[in-house]
Amino acid sequence: MPSSPDEAATEHPEITFIGCSRCGTLIAGLDGRYACSGCGWVNEWTEGHRPLPEARRRRT
Ligand SMILES: [Zn+2]
Repeated sequence: MPSSPDEAATEHPEITFIGCSRCGTLIAGLDGRYACSGCGWVNEWTEGHRPLPEARRRRT
């Protein structure tokens, strides 16, 4: 079994909804990251529920 519990969790992104902070349109996002199709607004990826795949588990 090569897969870890953390990797399994990333296969099920959480879909959430928010009102666009620019135009107010209700938009859907994955893991707390949003992009409005109406005005092009996107939120900061750092507001997401999880770090981006390439940013996780940085080994020091
Ligand atoms: Zn918008």
